[in-house]
Amino acid sequence: MSNKPQYDYLIVGAGLFGAVFAHEATKKNKKCLVIDKRDHLGGNIYCENIEGINVHKYGAHIFHTNDKYIWDYVNSFVPFNRYTNSPVANYEGKLYNLPFNMNTFYQLWGVTTPNEAQAIIEQQTQKYKKNNPKNLEEHALSLVGEDIYHKLIKGYTEKQWGRKATELPTFIIKRLPLRFTFDNNYFNDTYQGIPIGGYNKLIDGLLKNVECKTNIDFFKDREYWGSLAKNIVYTGKIDEYYDYRFGKLEYRSLNFQHEILETSNYQGNAVINYTESQIPYTRIIEHKHFEFGKQKSTVITKEFPLEGGTKNEPYYPINNDKNNDIYLQYKKIAQESSVIFGGRLAEYKYYDMHQVIASALTRSKKVFAED
Ligand SMILES: Cc1cc2nc3c(=O)[nH]c(=O)nc-3n(C[C@H](O)[C@H](O)[C@H](O)COP(=O)(O)OP(=O)(O)OC[C@H]3O[C@@H](n4cnc5c(N)ncnc54)[C@H](O)[C@@H]3O)c2cc1C
Repeated sequence: MSNKPQYDYLIVGAGLFGAVFAHEATKKNKKCLVIDKRDHLGGNIYCENIEGINVHKYGAHIFHTNDKYIWDYVNSFVPFNRYTNSPVANYEGKLYNLPFNMNTFYQLWGVTTPNEAQAIIEQQTQKYKKNNPKNLEEHALSLVGEDIYHKLIKGYTEKQWGRKATELPTFIIKRLPLRFTFDNNYFNDTYQGIPIGGYNKLIDGLLKNVECKTNIDFFKDREYWGSLAKNIVYTGKIDEYYDYRFGKLEYRSLNFQHEILETSNYQGNAVINYTESQIPYTRIIEHKHFEFGKQKSTVITKEFPLEGGTKNEPYYPINNDKNNDIYLQYKKIAQESSVIFGGRLAEYKYYDMHQVIASALTRSKKVFAED
């Protein structure tokens, strides 16, 4: 069935890219229709309210940025709280602060000064620095030494990628920052926090004056949905858009196991990483701590890493040479098309929230300047 276009833009995907684009287009008096195949808006930042707690359904999301413009932009839809991400690692029942800082070094070695900590790291990394690292294990050992690597990196990374660290490429870990101050704040950015009342408020604010339909898979009838608008913004998987003609792009996935517990405070922190390989999950998230919740019960989520496959949600692109080559072939034909491809799935790229918002703002500015 074909229709005369009723909309200026059909936006496929109600995640941050689609929502920001739709908001900016609506401000320019463009008529937009946003569709999403899930039963809710928000994409991966969606929160489900369970027992009065905003549960980050697709993994813990902490907003952070150095860009004041982006910070003011998101705060114009919903004020953010002062949550500071300070994850803790549990290795064989002992707790260590993250990111690696003077608290961690004290917990590992009992050292109390930066000089003592630096001396131990220097001594543990020396022998690994000589050769060009051939894999992630050698690379990590040359950056942080044996103790930090074996207790806090190896098991976690192997679970995350489903492979031995000796079989993983070095590019996965670019840097392993070591901080010689007593500072457990995970991010270096000037601004961080969680929207007060949860991420849905941000999405609702962005999509306030936009027509949206959920439970609609674009591919169930792409001709019909495409015929409704003069232009298409597509934020789903780029390989799916092109019927996988150059092959499938691979992802890592996660299985989230949510549990409601009849206790007001299960672990005392929003994020605890489990860094030993014997424990099958990588993290336990206790959602109420993102918003300093005072509810009687609590909700925790265990994160189990998985292969991407067809059934599992595509979360992390695997940007190795094989996949990057396939992506470049899709990108080439996408650039020749009139469709706007944006966001993490359409660009096969890991984006943090502030980055995907910046990308959608830049793209919409360009599109409307050309109009
Ligand atoms: C586990 C995890 C943790 C993260 N933690 C953080 C964090 O702490 N801080 C941070 O800044 N960022 C974090 N991120 C990144 C953040 O999730 C992304 O930046 C953001 O969600 C990207 O938005 P998007 O619009 O590109 O994609 P998405 O949010 O995935 O939106 C795409 C939407 O398109 C829809 N769609 C796809 N195909 C179709 C179709 N055929 N028809 C209709 N709809 C379709 C999907 O259902 C989805 O809703 C995390 C990501 C993951 C995976």
